[in-house]
Amino acid sequence: MNLSALAGNASLKGQLERQTARRGLSHAYIISGPPLSGKRTLAGLLAAALVCSGAPEQAPCLSCPGCRKAMAGIHPDIITLAPEGREITVAQVRALRADAYIRPNEAGRKVYIIQQAQSMNQSAQNAMLKLLEEGPAYAAFLFLTDNAAALLPTVRSRCESLALSPVTAEEAMTYLAGRFPQLPGPQLQAAALACQGRLGLAVEQLEGGQEDSPVADTAAALLDCLSAGEEAALLERCVSLEKWEREQVCLLLDTLIDLLGDALLLCTGAAPHQTHPVCRAAAERAAKACSRHTLLGHIAHLERLRDACGYNIGAGHLAGWLCAGLFS
Ligand SMILES: [Zn+2]
Repeated sequence: MNLSALAGNASLKGQLERQTARRGLSHAYIISGPPLSGKRTLAGLLAAALVCSGAPEQAPCLSCPGCRKAMAGIHPDIITLAPEGREITVAQVRALRADAYIRPNEAGRKVYIIQQAQSMNQSAQNAMLKLLEEGPAYAAFLFLTDNAAALLPTVRSRCESLALSPVTAEEAMTYLAGRFPQLPGPQLQAAALACQGRLGLAVEQLEGGQEDSPVADTAAALLDCLSAGEEAALLERCVSLEKWEREQVCLLLDTLIDLLGDALLLCTGAAPHQTHPVCRAAAERAAKACSRHTLLGHIAHLERLRDACGYNIGAGHLAGWLCAGLFS
């Protein structure tokens, strides 16, 4: 397998190498990991490998017509399914099943990428289970999720599990230097450290050029509302989160927990982890304005919310709970 485009994750790559050398690619994988940890990158590489016409041990070769179309997102035999609203419904899975019985257009396989797979409701999962058990041999399924535990055990048992891990700062730096050769080293270094292993976050920030990522900016703004005791401003910020994707809200909660942790470190005179200038300044203000007890209380509340985030909860609910808990 050629998984060099995926940063870090050496043990996962080793696992895939060994499995595919023995028995080729499986017909169903659960790809799990926190938001922006590389789930879509890995799914893209596996999908390309499944439609690649090159030698299996080199797949995805990234140069055959199948790979090129796959990487450009225009391969007719790679189909992506995402929640309509909050859920993936049984109607969506039935439509997918009908499609799966139509033979592939160009490749030997047909690949279905199911995003936010934890949002399949129970009947959707049962319909999917039938497809996994009885579907055509050419069909392959890649389930992406940040909470594999929300999938039925019967679904899980029919899939190989691929769990992504956060990358180290060195791995992030190597990847970012290759992807953004035009950017100065210190800027890449700062992004590699600040992303805390979630490489997608660093890419999002660097691709935005001078603009900061909405997640970092919003986390800093929320923390400032807390430090200043501005309940109305916090409420307004939280309301605007209802339009966000659930994964982005989860990432925001992670970032806010990191920032509060930094404020605690600053309270004890230790150096904070965050290097992002806006976030660092917000952590410094919080350290001055809030007691350690208050900071710990906020962290506990956010961690409870972060756990709930792994389930199929809408951004609107999360935003409401966030605001209610922080000023209770
Ligand atoms: Zn290829």
